[in-house]
Amino acid sequence: MTMKRNWPSRSRVALLLSTLAGTLGFPAAAQTAAPGRTILAIGAHAGDMELTAGTLLIKQHKLGDRVVILHMTLGEGGNPQVSPSIYGAQKKREALAADSVIGAEAIFAPYRDGEIPNDEAARRYVADVIRQVKPSYIITHWKNSIHKDHSNTSAIVQDAVLLASLEGVVTQHPAYRGVRGVYYAENWEDSEGFVPYIYYGVKDAMQQWRTAVTKYEFIAGKISSFPYLDYYEALSTVRGAVSGKGKAIAFDIDEFGKRRVLDSLP
Ligand SMILES: [Zn+2]
Repeated sequence: MTMKRNWPSRSRVALLLSTLAGTLGFPAAAQTAAPGRTILAIGAHAGDMELTAGTLLIKQHKLGDRVVILHMTLGEGGNPQVSPSIYGAQKKREALAADSVIGAEAIFAPYRDGEIPNDEAARRYVADVIRQVKPSYIITHWKNSIHKDHSNTSAIVQDAVLLASLEGVVTQHPAYRGVRGVYYAENWEDSEGFVPYIYYGVKDAMQQWRTAVTKYEFIAGKISSFPYLDYYEALSTVRGAVSGKGKAIAFDIDEFGKRRVLDSLP
């Protein structure tokens, strides 16, 4: 059997995920499952996942889960005062320091800032990381973004989950079908069409999160005019208010995961 070169359709991914995990999209599943799982967060630029999902990653690590962050690029083009090679080395040091505070392992993909290719090779690269890391849950960018690297990463990850599961797709590691859910993090650059769906209380993780993300100069310093820390702290207050959790983080999931099938009113 030969693989079609076309990207797998969203409906095939949907079918795969709903077949693999009847629980996808139901937050209770995450709360009742046994500890010791693996969570893989995949961000376009070093700093993206720590900012948008770091509080949950900190909590899950404390609960005994293994946490891995795949940085598709270092985001080395983000400092106009410094060359990409110098800033890239700084971003790598900062990522390792931030991820260490979170309790996460870091993997650095071989892509350049602004140039994440939306192609088959990138899908196979991420599929192989998924096969190697064996995550129960994947966190990544929402599909729509003002930053091409973010939307490309989202598309690549969604297709890579399917590719990783297929025996016919050959990479360095054997097929893996254990992904129970893909969660999309809330990011100010990825807000078009994003609707918060699952809320997690993160009040007890805020201080550690602040310590982690401020390892990045673009968050703690003057490189960017965007007030990252203020924005995400305020967002945790907003999400915490509507969920009654004090401080909270919210994720969206794919539409198919929101389908509930019951025999009578719950
Ligand atoms: Zn980014």
